[in-house]
Amino acid sequence: MGKVLIIGAGGVGSVVAHKMASLPDVFTGIMLASRTKSKCDAIAAHAGENRIETAQVDADNVPQLVSLIRACKPDMVVNVALPYQDLHIMDACLETGVAYLDTANYEPPEEAKFEYRWQWEYGDRFRDAGLTAILGCGFDPGATSVFTAYAAKHHFDEIHYLDIVDCNAGDHGKPFATNFNPEINIREVTQRGKYWENGRWVTTEPHEIHMPLDYPHIGLRESYLIYHEELESLVKNFPTLKRARFWMTFGQEYLTHLRVIQNIGMAGIAPVMYEGREIVPIQFLKAVLPDPGELGENYTGQTSIGCRIRGIKNGREKTYYIYNNCRHEDAYAETGAQGVSYTTGVPAAIGAMMYLKGIWKKPGVYNVEEFDPNPFMTELNRLGLPWTELHDVDLEL
Ligand code: NDP
Repeated sequence: MGKVLIIGAGGVGSVVAHKMASLPDVFTGIMLASRTKSKCDAIAAHAGENRIETAQVDADNVPQLVSLIRACKPDMVVNVALPYQDLHIMDACLETGVAYLDTANYEPPEEAKFEYRWQWEYGDRFRDAGLTAILGCGFDPGATSVFTAYAAKHHFDEIHYLDIVDCNAGDHGKPFATNFNPEINIREVTQRGKYWENGRWVTTEPHEIHMPLDYPHIGLRESYLIYHEELESLVKNFPTLKRARFWMTFGQEYLTHLRVIQNIGMAGIAPVMYEGREIVPIQFLKAVLPDPGELGENYTGQTSIGCRIRGIKNGREKTYYIYNNCRHEDAYAETGAQGVSYTTGVPAAIGAMMYLKGIWKKPGVYNVEEFDPNPFMTELNRLGLPWTELHDVDLEL
């Protein structure tokens, strides 16, 4: 059906490659490229069947990307490198006339501030070139955004209150590790909190608002209100929302480590001089922390991520909860990666499938909730991330 170029050979890239390699009718050609080619080769060998070609690329270098894309001739580039590379890869896609998909919005390296503005500004150029760009196609953003679109399409006339709830009740056995890229993760969770209420953004101190929430098959877990990127696109695409918030669970041990890391300056993103050369503290920290792509082996427990929604259907108030639970052990058995990489990589592969099948194909730059949710939801069930719906339940929030 089509060829893809995956950029980024981390935990998520590994899952995307495994999933695509298992779907030869859809992904007739796969190339995996990253900064370190040996990581691509290791993934290609593990995913098996000699289906994956590999290459080295610096995705901050647009001419290098353009040469690679011209040599590879993919139908779509799947960007699972870091948010810093988003604009460079979009530039290269425009120059070569290829579709684009990612799982995280652009963030400038020198400022811990992510927003869609930079990528939305590419809308006219992608539209004029007749090219599709699909933004935020992991789990959150990604599946949670599609869950919201599915709820709005099938179960509500208007959605009013949205709470995205993200619980990782897994145990990787390490004193401290992050479940995806440590630099991006620590920048995200140490930001001030922010949520949408009555037409404006409300800002909080980091982790100021928290409460225990009951997660299916897990139980009560302390959940912290943080800002998350899909809130920005969801309040724009679902203007009936009166309030939209994002909650994530953190254990006390994780928060204590995080506080120490911040207090001693290791979360800093400004360069410091060390032995005559500049280093960025958080990048040095990443080098000594466990690699999220290698946490899978001893990871037990599960994730539970979903949307709790309140709104109106046929003049009556109703509540709705849609979620997926994913067991780390199952993710590891299938792909060699832990559940957070798995829940991100599988939706990215499905998004690329939607494009190659011509279902999610329209010129311009779009967030996933702007496409038909139904075929994507069907594939989530089929490809390892089944979802459950609960109607008229106590949402706790
Ligand atoms: P990793 O750090 O494990 O992997 C990132 C990969 O990108 C690494 O292989 C790295 O290369 C490569 N890379 C970094 N910079 C460049 C560059 N300039 N050129 C080429 N390759 C580069 O991260 P994850 O796999 O955990 O996360 C991948 C993405 O997924 C991130 O953007 C993250 O924010 C996003 N994500 C999205 C989620 C969602 O639900 N939407 C959830 C979790 C993550 P090297 O190995 O050489 O360092």
